[in-house]
Amino acid sequence: MDTEPEGTRFMTATSTTACQSCGMPIESGPYCHHCVDGTGALQDFETRFERMVGWQQRRDPSASREALESATLDYLATMPAWRDHPRVTAR
Ligand SMILES: [Zn+2]
Repeated sequence: MDTEPEGTRFMTATSTTACQSCGMPIESGPYCHHCVDGTGALQDFETRFERMVGWQQRRDPSASREALESATLDYLATMPAWRDHPRVTAR
């Protein structure tokens, strides 16, 4: 029997979620492959923070280190994985 409506399959294929650590769209989760180590565990805060400051720097190469760190902390404050971290809440 082949009774599956085409529409059901389309809606399943387009559903995405966001990484709880960096906000990148992912198909399943909680985290994207950038944010986990080799065992699938979430990386520690310092590792993620350095990587995300680096991403900010590529987007805005003329910004100061202080401004990049501040922008990164503001962004992490919107992420479920980090918003309660002491470095984020202390900013
Ligand atoms: Zn991520």
